[in-house]
Amino acid sequence: MEELKNRVEQCTKCPLHKSRNKVVFGNGNYQASVFLIGEGPGYEEDKAGEAFVGRSGKLLDKILLACNFTREAHVFIGNIVKCRPPGNRTPYPEEMEACLPYLEEQIEKVDPAIIITLGATALKGLTGENLKVTRERGKWRLWFNRMLMPTYHPSALLRNPSLKRDAWEDFKKVILKYREIIDQNHPCQYI
Ligand code: SF4
Repeated sequence: MEELKNRVEQCTKCPLHKSRNKVVFGNGNYQASVFLIGEGPGYEEDKAGEAFVGRSGKLLDKILLACNFTREAHVFIGNIVKCRPPGNRTPYPEEMEACLPYLEEQIEKVDPAIIITLGATALKGLTGENLKVTRERGKWRLWFNRMLMPTYHPSALLRNPSLKRDAWEDFKKVILKYREIIDQNHPCQYI
């Protein structure tokens, strides 16, 4: 994984490398059972070189805490693109295409049983299908023998707090699946 990280940190495969401050490779446990995928680094992430450290990251941490998951033990968090799109715009298809092999390699190395896509860009970027997160969220899909749960991006939850209830329902399904296939004794006070 460190070799892959070094490669990604020197990457100039797409124009996003020109405006980045730091590459955001992703954070978490390299042997995690749960792999979360966001869209791309924002301002704070680009500055820190860490995934999900801004307001969205803080909300994501709260959700993970409610699931009794920690970044250190249970999850790895990555993005569809590793460099920040200027002004936080949605990455262009050619940028996602250029970066996707890195994500696929990360998934192969971490070998998670469960993948969670956060938001439409992550869902479309990973599956290559023009799927709507509003329609697909909360429904398990199979992605190359891994269980994939699409849900909202935390930034959508910040913009529209009424979506939080649905997002929590999605994460509850993840906890149940985690108990089913990873650890039947995984504690969670909410479920
Ligand atoms: S976004 Fe991905 S493909 Fe583009 S320069 Fe950064 S690491 Fe390379």
